[in-house]
Parts: sequence; structure tokens; C-alpha cells
Amino acid sequence: MNHPLQFHAPGGFYINDSLSITSLSYSMKTCWLLIALCASPVLFAQHKTDSIITKTSLQETLAVLASDSLEGRLTGTIGAEKAAYFIADKMMRAGLTPLPGTTGWFDSFPVPGQGKKTVGLNVIGFLPASWQIDSSIIFSAHYDHLGKGKNLTYMEPPDKEDEIYNGANDNATGVAAILELAKYYAANTHNRYNLVFIAFSGEEMGLVGSTAYAKKLKSKTVKAAINLEMLGRPTNERCYIVALGNHHLRKQLNTTLGKFNGNPAEKFFGADTYSEEQLEYRSDHYPLSRKIKTAFTIMGTSPADDYYHSVDDEFGTIDFDFLLKATRNIALACEYFTR
Ligand SMILES: [Zn+2]
Repeated sequence: MNHPLQFHAPGGFYINDSLSITSLSYSMKTCWLLIALCASPVLFAQHKTDSIITKTSLQETLAVLASDSLEGRLTGTIGAEKAAYFIADKMMRAGLTPLPGTTGWFDSFPVPGQGKKTVGLNVIGFLPASWQIDSSIIFSAHYDHLGKGKNLTYMEPPDKEDEIYNGANDNATGVAAILELAKYYAANTHNRYNLVFIAFSGEEMGLVGSTAYAKKLKSKTVKAAINLEMLGRPTNERCYIVALGNHHLRKQLNTTLGKFNGNPAEKFFGADTYSEEQLEYRSDHYPLSRKIKTAFTIMGTSPADDYYHSVDDEFGTIDFDFLLKATRNIALACEYFTR
């Protein structure tokens, strides 16, 4: 992406007059633009999301997580473990640390039906608030998916050519988005709460990783939990909010986004119109919602999506322009909770 600002004016003062005039006016324009950016929270916030959250970065994360080499990231397999290490490394590069009081990035839980030896790994990164405080906000997305071939008993049979459920949209997109949010909030100097970023595992097995995490959670200090799911194939160029209760969420998010992007009429965050699907019980916000009053999922894709839980949910089916827009909008809108 083109950076809107160039901090070095092109040379030319020594070459000829016309070029020096161009250079001078270019520098002055840059100055005015800088002044405008500082004076306007709208321009400043947009400039920041545009420079930090990029399509290339989202694509790099998706290319790894949705690759065949991770074999569909089934919880408890080598592919899922590789994904966990990749995510921890990305969290570290984004400026996060392991949770204070823990020894590392991973929070393990037993995989159901596989004895105590096989564990799933939630990956957790921490960003301290801009000043000392105990309260926190959780951003989460599950990184596990369905694995490959004959592991599956409850999905359509995979075709012979392709056995791997890559889970690009479900939910490499959500993970890629929270990694971008981590970078974005790490660059903020006004984070009111500690921010905890969690890539859950065990979601596809029945919200197992988030349930294990919720059991241990001291929830009194958690102000909100924001979960991201399937942001790469939009149904109507908007996201929708899945939650039990809290009918003010859409308004809170849309108003905050409108304040920052200067487009209050857009209403990017819509309602969950799939009530028969009972989505409010089907993602990782649900176990958290039993302990945290404000816990919800932001989704972009319809549950009736053609590629949902199919081997064709691949990198090539992702609408990266939408994923980029959604991630930037979520970063700005969630300042309602973080600022
Ligand atoms: Zn799924």
C-alpha cells in the first residue's frame, strides 16, 4: 500500500530552479498534511490504521495458517502445534508478551477422548495498559480447524484429490485480524485497559479451548471479550454482531467507527439475521459470556456460505479487500472499549 506521507522531500535544489520549486511546494504540502493529521482525530486514526494494518500482512498470515503443510490445524495434531508456534511468534513481533505470571505463550487443555497425553494449545499474548490497571479486554479468534481426510466423521466426505480442510476463512481470517489488532493497539498510547489476545484451539470440537480458559478466568477484571470469526467472505460487505443480550453493541461500534472514519451513516456493523442458526452458542464468545457481561463475536460470513466446513475453504477464496476493511474498521470501532 502507498504511504500517504513522505518524510523526505525529493532532492533537486542543486539541479535546476523548476525542480527546486517543486521540491519546496512538496515540502510545504507535507507540512500542512502533518498539521492536519495532528489536528484531526479522524485523519490521524485513519492514517494509523492504514499504515499499520495492511493487506500484505493479512495475506502473509493466511498463507501460512491455511497452507496444506498445517494439514487443517486439527486440535492435538502437529499441524495445530505448528500453527500455535507461528501465532506466538507473530504475537511477539507485534509487541505482545506472555501473560504476566505465566511461563510462556501457551495455555494447554486435554483434548476430549484422547487421554491426558494429547493437549490442545490456546496461544495468549498480553499488552499492558498505558497506565497501571488490573482490568482487561480480551480479543480472541480460534485458529484450529477440522484437520484432514478420515479424521472427519461429521462433515461431508472430502474429495479424493484434496483431503485437507484448510480453514482459510474459518478461522485463519479471524486470527490474522487479531494479529493486526495487536500491532495497532501496541502503537497506541491511550489504552485504558490491559489487552489480552487469545488464539483459541478446540473450537471446532465444541468450544473446548475457550471453555477450559473460561473456567480458570478471574472474570471480575475483564470488561469485555471480543471474538472474531470468518471475516474473509462477506455476505453484504458488512460484518454482523453475534451476542447473547447487549443490544447496544451495534450502536456503540457504529458510532465509534463513524467518529473515526468520518462516515457515521455507514453502519458497518449489522445485526445477526440468522437466528435459526443459534450462532450465539456456536463460537468462543459463548463460554466467556457466562463470566463476562459483554462478550460477543464479530462475523463477516453467512453460516450458509458455500465453502463453510468444506475442503475448498482455501486462501484463493478470500476477499482480502473486505478482510482489510473489516480489520481496520474493527480496530477503530473497538476503541469504544479500549480508549
Ligand atoms: Zn468452523
